[in-house]
Amino acid sequence: PLILGIETSCDETGAGLVRDGVLLGDALASSMDEHARFGGVVPEIAARAHLEALPQIVRAAVDRAGVGFGDIDAVAVTAGPGLATAVQVGLAAGKAYALSLGVPLYGVHHLAGHAAVDVLEHGPLPGRCVALIVSGGHTSLLVLDDLVRDPIVHLGDTVDDAAGEAFDKVARLLGLPYPGGPAIDRTARDGDPAAITFPRPLTSARDDPYGFSFSGLKTAVARWVEQHRGAVPVADVAASFQEAVADTLSRKAVAACREHRSATLLMVGGVAANSRVRSLMAQRCAAAGIELRVPSPRLCTDNGAMIAAVGDLLLRAGLPPSTLGLGMRPTVTLSRALIG
Ligand code: ATP
Ligand code: MG
Ligand code: FE
Repeated sequence: PLILGIETSCDETGAGLVRDGVLLGDALASSMDEHARFGGVVPEIAARAHLEALPQIVRAAVDRAGVGFGDIDAVAVTAGPGLATAVQVGLAAGKAYALSLGVPLYGVHHLAGHAAVDVLEHGPLPGRCVALIVSGGHTSLLVLDDLVRDPIVHLGDTVDDAAGEAFDKVARLLGLPYPGGPAIDRTARDGDPAAITFPRPLTSARDDPYGFSFSGLKTAVARWVEQHRGAVPVADVAASFQEAVADTLSRKAVAACREHRSATLLMVGGVAANSRVRSLMAQRCAAAGIELRVPSPRLCTDNGAMIAAVGDLLLRAGLPPSTLGLGMRPTVTLSRALIG
């Protein structure tokens, strides 16, 4: 079966076509530049941009896939979590495509999409594995069984900021452009990761082993920058901050795999695109005999293929579709891939 996936939860407008675990084509637009001068995504601007871009993006994805609209067997669309006005545009469009094509609609959890996209590059997920989702709004360690049939178990989540949010905030206080993650990644290449020892939050023996906290780390960077005003070695600060995040994420993820006897770690979400997070995680997984699965950087950040990937799994698992009365769920937590 051929699935059209639609993603509009934040500032990326994405569409993708997936058939039996294979990505046939996708297209992406972003309103990122329109938000840059505000330092963060403005929901109304994002929603307007989705409305304008979506028809062309869907058509471009269909063309690139070399299929016709009549070949589509189901539509999958992000129903949450995300910015309410942004999710609403994609959801309305998804319903319209499903209704006009006469095919079922699947409401998809955006974070399940981040995980499912890996299937398109690396094949079916193992039956049970530990997953680390590190994105702009979420940071969670999970145990996955069958991604679309089974409930998703949370080992730990962030108690304050998400890892991506910390990248964005630290970039801002270093005067780097928005979005901050890619800017810090680039800037850190010229810096010394050992120049400054920033805290590794929640890594002492007394702490929740799988909980995360990034707001204290951000504050530590802010304080350091304040104390060295006029002479801030931006590349060193960026590299040292990035090292603290990579160290914290990899220690906890490897410990979770050990405790839960998972031979595989799945790392997904926008921060999984970070070069140092990838290399340190790879190094520590290799040392622990754990297979690391991470999507290519371009599929780590938001896109339409990831939503089609979930729809493809849902349809092939024979799960009942959502109804056209499906409402958006801007704050839904990740417990199931399907949002009915
Ligand atoms: P969520 O998925 O939690 O709803 P989101 O969809 O906004 O949030 P993603 O698209 O998964 O988040 O990822 C965006 C985040 O990833 C941003 O915070 C961005 O700074 C970060 N990011 C992207 N590339 C990199 C990178 N190379 N290094 C570090 N962070 C990065
Ligand atoms: Mg984005
Ligand atoms: Fe995302």
